[in-house]
Amino acid sequence: MSTMEPSHTHSPHIAVIPSAGMGHLTPFLRLASLLLSRNCSVTLLTAKSTVSNAESRHISFFLATHPRVKHLEFDLIPPLQSSNSSAQDPFSIQYNAISRSAHLLHPLLSSSSPPLSAIFSDLLVAKTVACISADLLIPYYLVITSSARFLSFMLYLPAFVSNPDKFSSNAVEVEIPGSSPLPISSIPLPFLNPNHLLAETILANLGVVPEAKGIMVNTFDWFEAETIAALNNGIVLSNLPSVLPIGPLQAYEFDKDQSQCLPWLDDQPEKSVVYVSFGSRTAMSNDQIRELGYGLDKSGCRFLWVVKTSKVDKEEKESLEELLGESFLERIKNRGMVVKEWVNQDKILAHPAIGGFISHCGWNSVTEAAERGIPILAWPLHGDQGVNAELLQKAGLGIWEKTWGMGNERLVKQEKIGKKIVELMDDAELRSRASKVGREARKATELGGSSDKAIMGIIENLT
Ligand code: UDP
Ligand code: UDP
Repeated sequence: MSTMEPSHTHSPHIAVIPSAGMGHLTPFLRLASLLLSRNCSVTLLTAKSTVSNAESRHISFFLATHPRVKHLEFDLIPPLQSSNSSAQDPFSIQYNAISRSAHLLHPLLSSSSPPLSAIFSDLLVAKTVACISADLLIPYYLVITSSARFLSFMLYLPAFVSNPDKFSSNAVEVEIPGSSPLPISSIPLPFLNPNHLLAETILANLGVVPEAKGIMVNTFDWFEAETIAALNNGIVLSNLPSVLPIGPLQAYEFDKDQSQCLPWLDDQPEKSVVYVSFGSRTAMSNDQIRELGYGLDKSGCRFLWVVKTSKVDKEEKESLEELLGESFLERIKNRGMVVKEWVNQDKILAHPAIGGFISHCGWNSVTEAAERGIPILAWPLHGDQGVNAELLQKAGLGIWEKTWGMGNERLVKQEKIGKKIVELMDDAELRSRASKVGREARKATELGGSSDKAIMGIIENLT
């Protein structure tokens, strides 16, 4: 742990530095909003151009509604050219570019006025931020936007990739110290190939983790108690700073919602609607999208479905009519609402008409559902989602049909989807277990709850 003292004695001034994509930006903006509400000053540092329109729109709106936040932008130097296929993923390219450009933060951070009390950064800029923080004598904290369980896996990653025997004797699981074994099928594909741009970027930043003053995780103690205890007891890594669960981070008020989703939900019976979304950057194949549509139809349930056909929102072209056909849309219109736009997911999940959530298990989506006690039908597709799906099922928040596979590797047929949706919506025990998760999540963030105490402890340390 660092011995540096904050240079400041009154209200702390904190620099927050997210990485790319809505899944990383959202928790940082939520954290910034929380810090402001606890009397801190905040400087937000972001890369000059974003990959998606959603990111630039959310940054602009956040700044307009939080005028006390100072915003500084830094340029991006070109990412490493790589011939491997990951280079095709615009978000992985951006992670790498941000990581490689992080030295440009030095003059912005050193000239900050009033001087900074702390830097809160994403893991993917940690290496450079750690150097800057040592140079400027400003403590730095890591903010992990994924689960504590996925953090354990990332910390174990250097040992995992360097072990030549990792797949010997037909291993189906990986032993992570202090955690239950992780099925190999849940490990994100990039990490099975250490030359992948994402794996490279994460590995490059992991070495400085012990230098952080603390590691904040957007989770809550009750949800991942065993993993958090293992991290804090030195079982995963002996020299780890405190791991501080500070979630679920609460949404701040967003844009006036123009969409028809909320008015439509107002007309539906309580807990009758299944909400379907695969997050901000996951597109299924068109065949799978159609199969899902037929599955929703077959289930006989009411549904609100957000369709995405491209990873990056700027590239969305096909209309719903072209994709699903007018007759499908006509047939389901009394029971289902289908949109192809950004929706206010947090408000949707808080609506009393929602009774279940089909989710890709991006960590923000999981924490939002946890907070509302909404049962999830997990359909993880890439990244940390398999790890998240597994843990939410164990915690009682949902169900996961593993045979559906990850990464669009097979076409899941409508009959199976329809059946599983009925299971999700009709299981009273699941509903009650999920409600319990909701109660525990809200207890953690209320005044004096475990997450509230963790964040207040950090702020008090900086004053
Ligand atoms: N989100 C939203 N509306 C949309 C799509 C996504 O509000 O139409 C939000 C969602 O609530 C979550 C974030 O965007 O806060 C997506 O993050 P997550 O970790 O769930 O998944 P990712 O998009 O990173 O895969
Ligand atoms: N990751 C991170 N910071 C980033 C990008 C990725 O910490 O800026 C970690 C994070 O835990 C993430 C994992 O790497 O879940 C896999 O990233 P990927 O881009 O595959 O999926 P994501 O969860 O970001 O949608």
